[in-house]
Amino acid sequence: MNPIRVVVWGENVHEHKNPKVAAVYPDGMHTTIAAGIRENSSAVEVTTATLQETDHGLTTERLAATDVLVWWGHMAHDKVEDRIVDRIQQRVLEGMGLIVLHSGHFAKIFKRLLGTSCALTWREADEKERLWVCNPGHPIARGIDKYFELPREEMYGEPFGIPAPDEQVFISWFEGGEVFRSGCCWHRGNGKIFYFRPGHETYPTYHDNNVRRVIANAVEWARPQGQWADVSHCPNVKTPPEPLAKKAD
Ligand code: ZN
Repeated sequence: MNPIRVVVWGENVHEHKNPKVAAVYPDGMHTTIAAGIRENSSAVEVTTATLQETDHGLTTERLAATDVLVWWGHMAHDKVEDRIVDRIQQRVLEGMGLIVLHSGHFAKIFKRLLGTSCALTWREADEKERLWVCNPGHPIARGIDKYFELPREEMYGEPFGIPAPDEQVFISWFEGGEVFRSGCCWHRGNGKIFYFRPGHETYPTYHDNNVRRVIANAVEWARPQGQWADVSHCPNVKTPPEPLAKKAD
């Protein structure tokens, strides 16, 4: 099997504005996320792209050669150009996998593909997060115990303004009592989408082995399968596969 061509996209803004974030992710969050995927999967070719590059690093040619795109964004969602969002949406419909992390719940591409508010409740108070596996047979939960914990994270709570997921893999519980659908799968066109909640920028979440494994599992799950259908137009098929009987007027 050919290696899965993965692009980890990072907004790459907090790392340069907040010394606390730079201390946790000195080479950028995208670099750490990419390293975690390489470490947990032998079948991948992982590169990174950032907001600041031409076309945010996502040219038509590069997206055409991408099997799975991993997305982390937060404070600069509005800086992502709509023409690039159009381009990513088209590729997902064709079959490219999309993994959206943490604050990416408000990314233009996520809201576009899901079509709902994607709003949630939140609190930044150094809380413990317990992520329960609610679908142990799912490939994204492979190698994960009944649950795992992150000692300090931002809280995200319900209601989460998403369409009902096609598959639910994780549910989070927080120290303060809230719960949240933290690992959700959807299909759009030929593409698979996975949303994974943890990853607030001031915490070392993407250094956590369980988190790294889940993202790598998700990449393998989301790789394109089968033949991509042409979704760009609606052909008028005047000649059917079987000849039509003459109809009486
Ligand atoms: Zn956050």
